[in-house]
Formats: sequence, structure tokens, C-alpha cells
Amino acid sequence: MGIELDRTVDALPVLMWTACPDGRPKSFDQCWRDYAGLSAEQTSGDGWLQVVHPDDRAALLAAWQGGLDSGKAAEAQARMWRKDGVYRWFLLRANPVRDAAGKILEWHILGTDIEERKRGQAAERVHEQSFRLMIDNLPAIMVLFKPNGEVLHANRQALEYAGASLAEAAEWTSRIHPDDRQATLADFQATLAGGEPYEGDWRHRRADGVYRWFHARGAPLRDEEGRIVLWYFHCTDIDERKRAKALLAGENRLLEMVARAAPLHAVLDALCQLSEEIDNGCHSGILLIDPLRKIFQRGGTSSRTSAYIDAMHGAPVNTQTAPSAVAAFSGAPLIIEDVAADSRWSQHFRDMSLAQGLRACWLMPIHSRNREALGVLAVYRTEPGTPTAFQRDLIGQLSHIASIAIERAQSDMAVRRSMEGLRAIVETTPECVTLVAGDGTLLQVNSAGASIAGVPSVDVLIGKCFFDFVVPEHRQRYIDFHQRVCAGEKRTLEFDIITAHGERRHMESYSAPMESMDGITAQLGVTRDITARRLAEEELRRREALMAKSQQLSSSGSFSWRPQSKEMLWSAQTYRIFGVEPGTPVTQEVVAARYHPGDAHVLQDLLERAQLGLDLEYDHRLLMPDGSVKYLSVQAHSTRDALGRLEYIGAVRDVTEHHRSEETLSQLRTELAHVTRVHSLGALTASIAHEINQPLAGIMTNASTGVRMLGAEPPNVEGALQTLQRTLRDGRRASEVVTRLRALFSKKEVRNEPVDLNEATWEVVDLLRSAMRRKRIVLQQERAEDLPPVNGDKVQLQQVVLNLLTNAIDAMNDVEGRPRQLLVKTAREAGDAGDSVRVAVTDTGSGFDPQQATKLFEAFFTTKREGMGIGLSVSRSIIESHGGRMWATANDGPGATFSFSIPCRASGTAASTGEPR
Ligand code: ADP
Repeated sequence: MGIELDRTVDALPVLMWTACPDGRPKSFDQCWRDYAGLSAEQTSGDGWLQVVHPDDRAALLAAWQGGLDSGKAAEAQARMWRKDGVYRWFLLRANPVRDAAGKILEWHILGTDIEERKRGQAAERVHEQSFRLMIDNLPAIMVLFKPNGEVLHANRQALEYAGASLAEAAEWTSRIHPDDRQATLADFQATLAGGEPYEGDWRHRRADGVYRWFHARGAPLRDEEGRIVLWYFHCTDIDERKRAKALLAGENRLLEMVARAAPLHAVLDALCQLSEEIDNGCHSGILLIDPLRKIFQRGGTSSRTSAYIDAMHGAPVNTQTAPSAVAAFSGAPLIIEDVAADSRWSQHFRDMSLAQGLRACWLMPIHSRNREALGVLAVYRTEPGTPTAFQRDLIGQLSHIASIAIERAQSDMAVRRSMEGLRAIVETTPECVTLVAGDGTLLQVNSAGASIAGVPSVDVLIGKCFFDFVVPEHRQRYIDFHQRVCAGEKRTLEFDIITAHGERRHMESYSAPMESMDGITAQLGVTRDITARRLAEEELRRREALMAKSQQLSSSGSFSWRPQSKEMLWSAQTYRIFGVEPGTPVTQEVVAARYHPGDAHVLQDLLERAQLGLDLEYDHRLLMPDGSVKYLSVQAHSTRDALGRLEYIGAVRDVTEHHRSEETLSQLRTELAHVTRVHSLGALTASIAHEINQPLAGIMTNASTGVRMLGAEPPNVEGALQTLQRTLRDGRRASEVVTRLRALFSKKEVRNEPVDLNEATWEVVDLLRSAMRRKRIVLQQERAEDLPPVNGDKVQLQQVVLNLLTNAIDAMNDVEGRPRQLLVKTAREAGDAGDSVRVAVTDTGSGFDPQQATKLFEAFFTTKREGMGIGLSVSRSIIESHGGRMWATANDGPGATFSFSIPCRASGTAASTGEPR
């Protein structure tokens, strides 16, 4: 390029002329004429101006005038016309020529052809403009620096990012993040000085004040000599990449905290802090859900959100106006673009948020792996808006980490609770729990162990040799047992120990091997003090022996019976009673085989009652293999065993002997009763005579009336028929009286049948009516209707009533001056053992001394001259043989009341096989 340029310069015409001090042209050189093809005349005066391009003339003249006026050199560019008709650019320079005094003598004007240079400049300008256009349109930030570090140019992106003009771009260092500024500038200066390419990251402030991370690469541009002409810096926005990296690092930090089991609140606070670091201008908080109480709890906070999180602490989770509650259970993020404009939420929430200057609220539910709601992550911003994709990801990521932290804390808590629970169980158990090493060293023991050993605390025991506590005679056995457990077996052992107080105790150990962390096996034992149990067992054995003896002596045995499984357990005496070889397994069949065939119905009834679990009370007979008969009395009470099964515990008594003597006694009593009845006959004679006389008189009257009617003319057959019927009726009545008397006084076998006590009582009362009338006794009756029947012998019971009535009549014999009243009353009574029927006879007679009340019922006690003193004694034994009782009370007024009561006939129950005696 150099040679080319020289040639051109050589070829360039240089135009020269001179001018007077006032500017008038003086002379033009040959070149002028050659160049413009003008004659001297043509260039004289202002003619030369014709050569100048009309557009450039004014500027040229102005510059020329400026030089003339100032007397200083002047310069201008203008296009000059060449003779071939083209204009070429010239640089015209006028220099004043002065004398020694400085006076201008003339002007020398020199015109240099600069056409080529001009053309080169224009091309350069176009080149530069297109270069700027190119870098301005680059999608990245590009800044050009001069070698001294001044900003030469910043592209459009750079200016837009900074919100600065090109002039302001010079201030770029002030927009570097304060934390990064010093290091960045130092690197930059070093790069300029060293001339090596630059690479580095820093945060740069955006027009809105937000700092973003950039990665900058810088390289120098050198000229042909290798001098640095400029630096170009290319900056890429790596903010999101940087944040993602920071997020990853932050997440790792959080997970590390979780792994180290840092307190949940510390982890969640750190999480909120991380979220704020990663996402400029956000404020985070976390609420937890207490699943039991259904309320929110404080999770993590930052300074801006703590007021809201604190206010929500303890709030119910089931409200529709708290966004946290809605988000927690919706399973999806809840975006509140502008808190102020969203009317779905409670005024409280809005006021709280706005008071903190928070406008947008984004809530992300925190879920467990099983999709249970654990809490909610709340992210606030001071400006309304929705999250960017990056922010959505960030919130999702952080809520995931929160869920890990919360679940971990919950499971830690559960483990801790169960450990504490286990420890509490071991501590509170009354059994001694021990961990004994292979060599017998006691590694661990609970406080029950200390109290069994008789020492004040477990510390005294730990480290001691357990074998030393075992009594010498059991020690070897214990060591063998211990070694087998340590070898991997589960075993139990009973052994004795000597306590710190020198006391000997019986122990029972349930042991299993337990491998410790170092892999050595020890014996984990649960040992129980069974001293008391042993003593109780001994006591039980003694009692059993005692019981067997007493059963033998009382000829009564005991048994237990489970009707469902038909199992039976007999005492030794029961075996003896049933004549079964002791120890033979017994079942219901064994019992049934011994039952007397005549009592089969008793067994049947017994089994039916047992199905219902009712108490049993039966008398029955056994037919023994040798053909002899045994009388047994059985009583059994139903209970439930530990498993809730029905079980009878009962006693069986051999009453054969008793039965025999009772039979004899009963016979004697029957005899005696007969005697008393016959004795009562005297008192009844007059009454009986009257009872029979009355119908007899009726018969006589009716018969004679009938004869008369038939004898009349004509015979009154109708009337006679009526009288005959009346005769028949009276005859029947007389015969009834005689029948009743015969029944009462005959010595018949006792019976057991339903008896209506009303009927029985009033039949006797009827017999005595005339006797009472004769003795001026007023009879009163109180008769209870619908009396249930009783079981027994009607005649015997009537004999009792007769006895009470005749005694009452006797007691009123000497009563004068007050009414002789006799009240007979029947009544139904309800009692604990069931209903009964009561008969009471009240008189206004002599009465008795209350002190003598029991004496009256003794045999042969009498206050009467002709008395035998056996009436009441026999009556009472009759009533008692009916299962009833009899008693006497002195009246409030004069006289006495004698009463008896008999249980009603219970349906479906055989009172016993024994008849009333
Ligand atoms: P006896 O009638 O032969 O004396 P009891 O055994 O029937 O024999 O009576 C014994 C005694 O009881 C009588 O002697 C009498 O003292 C007394 N006693 C019986 N019934 C009454 C009565 N209703 N009022 C007063 N005392 C009575």
C-alpha cells in the first residue's frame, strides 16, 4: 500500500498562488493553468473563484476572510475544477508572510490535492458505522475499552441493561455489586497492564436496581505493530445459572443440616433465608400442621414474615379464608397476585400482609411422601405479580426440601418417643431387667433390679459380677444357664439370690441372647422375684391337705365343673362318695352312670339349669355298683373362669345317714301330729255337731214338707221336687263336713302337691264358725286374692291353721270388757328368695310375755291346765318342712299374732326329692 500511495502523491498537482495583504490575488503558478486550463486573464481578479465548486465557495471565502481578519494562517477544504471537467478535493492553506516588524507582506496560498485521502476517510466512516451497527445488534452485552481503560463504546444491550447513556456508561464501575467491586477492578487493571485475555464473574446492577451475575470475557485488539488499539469485553448473563448453583449448594447445606438432625426450626429458618438469597426481594415463611390438634404451628420465618407466621401459630387449619389453610390441603400452589385486590381472603390476612408492605403472596403446600399435608411454604414479594418459571421451580424445590426436613423431624420424634416409651416401660416394670456380659459383669439393670437386690441405686450394681449374687449352691447351674444363653439360646431358670440385706429370695429368669454393637453377645434377662409365689404355693398345698382332711371328716367332697367342655375336677372325698378310683379322669358320663334310675329327671333338670348358668341345689340318690343306695345333697355356684368360661364350684355331701334318721323322725312327727289332731277333736266336737246338725235339721224339715206336698190333693209335685232337691243339697253338705273331718283326723301319708292356702284356710275357718259364734268372737277376714299356690300337704297345713285358731279362741276365753276379735289374714309377700304366702291369725286374747316368744314353740310348753304344749311345736316343724317359717308377735294392743309363711311353688324347680316331712 505504501508504494501505491507515493506514486499517487507524486502525481498530485500542487496549486500555488500569492495574494496581497488585503487578499487580492497577485500571481498564479503554471500548475494552476495546467490544472484548470485557464489563462492568466481568466484567473485575475475573482476569476480564480470559478474553479472552486459552487457549493464550497462560501465556506472557503469565509475561512479566507477569517485568516485576513485575524492575520493568522487559515485552512479550508474545497473541490476544485479540473480542465477535464471533474472536481477534486483540495486542502487550501493560506500562510501570511511578514517582515521583521511582523507586518504582513503577502499571503502564500498552497492547495494540496486530497481527493484520494478524502475517499479513504469516507470508506472508513462507512466501515465504522457498520461495525457499530453490528455490535449494537449483538444479543449480548459488549463494551469496548481504550487501552487506558476508558469506555470507548458500549452496545445497545449494555446501555439498556444499565439504563444509561453512552456518556454515563463511563461510570460502569459504580454499578458493580459492592461485594465484587474491589476484586473485579483489580483484575481489570491487571488485565490492561498485562495484555492477556480476561475472564471473570461479577454482579452488575440493572436499571431497576437488581443485581445480576455476569460472566465477562475480554480480549485486546492489536494493530500491525502489535500495539493494543482497544479491548473488547463480552458479558453473558449467568444469573440463573449462578442462582441454580447457589441453590444447589444451599440445598446441600440444608440436607446436611437435616442429616445432622439439626432442630427443625433451625433448618426451616435457614431454608427461608436461602430462598431470600436465591430470589432477590422475596420474603419467605413456613407454617407446619399439627395433625392431631388440626392447627398451624410456627415453622421457619424471616424478618419480614415473622409477624404473619407468629399470628398464624395456633390458628385452625380448616378455614377457607386463610390462604395458608386453603393451599395446605389443595395440593396445588396458590398464587395471590395482589393481596390488596384479592377479596377471597380474610381482612386479617390482608391487613397483616399490607402492614409489612407485602403485596404478592405465593403459597406452596408441603406434602409427605404419602401426600399428607405437612405445612405450607409462603413466599411474599413487595410488588404484585406472579412467579417466573425460575421462581416456580425454586418454590417447588424448597418445599420439597422442607418436606424432607419435616418428615425426618417427625420420624426422629417418633423414634425418640418410642425409645423413651421403651425406657419408661423398662424403668417402670416391676421385673428386674438385666444385661449381663459373657463374663458375668452386670452391664445394665433397671431400678426394679436395684430394689430386688436391696441396694439404693443401680449405680451400685453396674460393673459388679452378677454370679456373686447367686447362692453358692445354685451358682454353677446359673453359670451354665448364662453360657448357653450367650451362645444363642433362649432359656428360663429358677434360682436363689442373696440380697444386700442377706435375705434369700427365689428368682425366675427369662433370658435371651443380645448382641451388642461390638458383636459380643450378652444375656438380656427379665428376672422376677417369685418368693411370694413360692410361699403362696406352699400355703396352697397345706390348705389343700387340710381341706382334704376336713372333707373326709365331714363326708363332703368338692368339685368343679365346666358344662361347656364337660370337664370335671373332684376332690379326694368326692371320689370316695362316688366310689370311683381316685385320680380316674371324671366326666359327666361318670356321674350320670351312678345316678339312681328313679332320679334321672333330677339329672335332666340339673343339666338344663346348668345351661343357663343358674345356681344348683339338688338332693338325689346314687345307685352304687353293689346295689346299695346313697343319698346326696349337691350345691353348686356358677362363676366365670379367667377366660370368661362358665364354671361351677360345688360341694357334694353324703346325706344317707342323715336321711335315714330324718325318715325315722318324720315318722315320729306324723305320729305326734296325729295325737295333737285327735287332741284338738275335743275342742271341735261342739262345732262339728252344729255343722252336721244344721243340714240334718234341713233334711228333716224338707222331707216332711215334701211328704205334705205329695199328700195334698192334688199333690204338689212341683213343690215336692224342690224340697227333695233341697234335701239332697243338705245331705251333700253334711257328707262334705264328714269327709273333711275324716281327712283331717285320719292318719294318712303325707303328700306333696299344689295347695291353695286361701281355700285350705277358709275350710278350717268354716269348721270353727259356730264355735266362735258361741264364744261371742267376732271373726274378721282379710283375704288376698290371686294367691299363688304353695307346694305341700294340704291336710298338714290345715292342721296348723286349726291349731292357731283354737289357740286364739282359747286365749280369748277369759276376756271380758273388751271385744273378742279374731282376724284371719292371707297375703302374698315378695322376698329376696322369691315370693311367699303368709297366713296370720290375730286375736285380742291374753297375749304372751314377749320374753317367752321363742319358748312357746318348744315342745311341752303350755300355760293351760289341760294343755299338752305340742301344738305349736308340731305346727312349726310342719311349716319348716314346707320350707317356710313360723313366728309369734305380741300385738300393740291386747292379744297376739301368730303367723307363718311358705315360699310359693317355683315353676320348673323340683324343691328336692325329699318330701315335706
Ligand atoms: P297348748 O295349746 O297345748 O298349750 P300349744 O303348743 O299350742 O300347746 O301352745 C303353747 C302355749 O303357747 C300355750 O299354752 C299358750 O301359753 C301359748 N299360746 C298359744 N297360742 C296363744 C295365743 N293365741 N295367745 C296367747 N298365748 C298363746
